[in-house]
Amino acid sequence: MPEACFIRSPLLEKHGFHGIFSLRNGGVSQAPFASLNLADNTGDNPDNAEKNLNILLCKAGLNSMPHRALQIHGQRILNCRGAGKMHPQQADILLSEDGSPVAVRVADCTPILIADPLNKRCVAVHAGWRGTAQTVAAHAIEALQKAGGNPQTFIASIGPCIGLCCFEIGEETAAALSLCCDKAAKHMTQRNGKYFADLAAINAQQLQKSGMQRQHIECIGGQQENCTCCHAAQFFSYRRDGQRSGRHLAIVAAKTAA
Ligand SMILES: [Zn+2]
Repeated sequence: MPEACFIRSPLLEKHGFHGIFSLRNGGVSQAPFASLNLADNTGDNPDNAEKNLNILLCKAGLNSMPHRALQIHGQRILNCRGAGKMHPQQADILLSEDGSPVAVRVADCTPILIADPLNKRCVAVHAGWRGTAQTVAAHAIEALQKAGGNPQTFIASIGPCIGLCCFEIGEETAAALSLCCDKAAKHMTQRNGKYFADLAAINAQQLQKSGMQRQHIECIGGQQENCTCCHAAQFFSYRRDGQRSGRHLAIVAAKTAA
């Protein structure tokens, strides 16, 4: 049996949305991008990245291209609707006004997919430590709320990312993260004089602080079994493989619009 090329979010699925986190298997790229690399700015052949995107969409049952943007570890929002494409704008929050697919590229950073089932809107968020420190998840909730939604009814899935086991950070990063929400310090540890952070858990805290209900937040990332750095067979990892690491895509879309 061929290996799976993505993980589907059970929670988003239950509420009428596709929530897709790609894995590294099933694509056409050669090492070090083998094989389902989904970014064309990593040194991989852009044709392969394009082919890989089509493979993923086909296997996941999505008929439309996702909206993507230039990610800069910030908190800027891009509003999207209709046919998806790679936008020239810089944004780490892609808000779909009509449920059409929106996506972020990650390799260790935390992908967060959020849906507003009552209004059929959804958001893809790229939250590395810089974005997390800038409360990018809270900004995403605020944007969905401004569009007319109620956070009490939102659903979120936090995807595979680097775990507490491997995400070693410096003292300054630890200090910046500890300021981003009340309980962030609870999700950092010190081992042998070094600091480690659980980005998935810190982002879950931010979502709750923004008004979401705990039972509406699914954490696929943050567990060691889904740590991108620990599991080279399943995941790309910037921390492990450096600049020439492939990238995953996390996609969210209303089923009626995809
Ligand atoms: Zn790990």
